[in-house]
Amino acid sequence: MLDFLRPELADFSGYRSHPGGELPAGLALDRLDTNESPYDLPPALKAKLSQVLSDVIESNRYPDGTHQTLKQAIVEYVNESCVAIANSTTAAITPDQISIGNGSDELIRSLLIASCLGDRGRVLVAEPTFSMYAILAKTLAIPVTTIGRSDKTFEIDLAAARATLSDDSLPPVRAIWVVHPNSPTANPLTAAELNWLRGMSNDVLVVIDEAYFEFSQRTVVGELSQRPNWVVLRTFSKAFRLAAHRVGYAIAHPDVAATLERIRLPYNLPSLTQAAAQTAMACRRDLLNVIGEVLGERERLSARLRATGALDVWDSHANFIYARPKFSIDQVTTDREARLASLAATLKAQGTLIRHTGGGLRITVGSPAENERTVDRLSQAVTS
Ligand SMILES: *Cc1c(COP(=O)(O)O)cnc(C)c1O
Repeated sequence: MLDFLRPELADFSGYRSHPGGELPAGLALDRLDTNESPYDLPPALKAKLSQVLSDVIESNRYPDGTHQTLKQAIVEYVNESCVAIANSTTAAITPDQISIGNGSDELIRSLLIASCLGDRGRVLVAEPTFSMYAILAKTLAIPVTTIGRSDKTFEIDLAAARATLSDDSLPPVRAIWVVHPNSPTANPLTAAELNWLRGMSNDVLVVIDEAYFEFSQRTVVGELSQRPNWVVLRTFSKAFRLAAHRVGYAIAHPDVAATLERIRLPYNLPSLTQAAAQTAMACRRDLLNVIGEVLGERERLSARLRATGALDVWDSHANFIYARPKFSIDQVTTDREARLASLAATLKAQGTLIRHTGGGLRITVGSPAENERTVDRLSQAVTS
């Protein structure tokens, strides 16, 4: 390593979208390992975007660095979806509560910079959960404390959480990260977990990542007006089918949103990305139409995987399923991990990519044809 590089980055391992080596060549792939939508944008929308690229966007000009048009569209959508869900009829959000990132990954990093950087404290996560929180914290030399979850329900170990929060021998916990519903385990926050977060003091940032909101229809946005230390993250990468374009947004107290705006890169959203997100907002009803199909497929896929008798399959509130082979009690962790790795590799060799993570298998709900193949291939692999 060259001396100017931070030595702790020498063997640092970042996020890997397709872990486990090379993708099989020459096979049609069912990409069920990153929780994307199985469907591209409808052809009419793609044609519209192409037209924007050729006729409207001036490639020699910087993009709109204010994001005002997109913020306004997001606010309308968020407020409309809050009204549609009975539990959140409180204060409507406004554009000064929004900051838009190049994917919500950018916002995760910005929130860490805004809260924890400069030895201001550590980050608390309950694993298994989305890996980017800890990965990005480590790139910024922010300490991470990891606690566990129930092996049956994946509820956060709140006793461990309380213990580490009051541990004065460590730097203060400055930010807590939860996914609602969690990835990879697909369980929403429980009433007890939400109450614990409600009791957090205002010097602790609470980030509630609602990447899968469109599938779960659960949100805490209605509570934000009472909780200045809470931030909700959303993304266009899942239900809105725009993973290629990289758009996520934070909904926060205006002071928090203003800080995120202050520290972000000035032109973080390319012009085509902004156009794609605006188009998705304008056509949201069409795009969200397939959610019903995905949820139906999820239930069918879960039932058929359970019917193998060889898998534990957890209830899902998102567009993916968490499952495990039925391990015997005396099977040690290394054996379990080896079995999971072997199942993932067996499916991969046939062209089905699923994710071995968090002590189990995370399987994205795909198109009906993909799900059919998942059932066939996984049933066979797990019972042979
Ligand atoms: C997929 C996902 C995201 C989305 O990240 P982007 O950078 O917006 O693509 C964020 N959080 C969680 C928990 C996710 O699973």
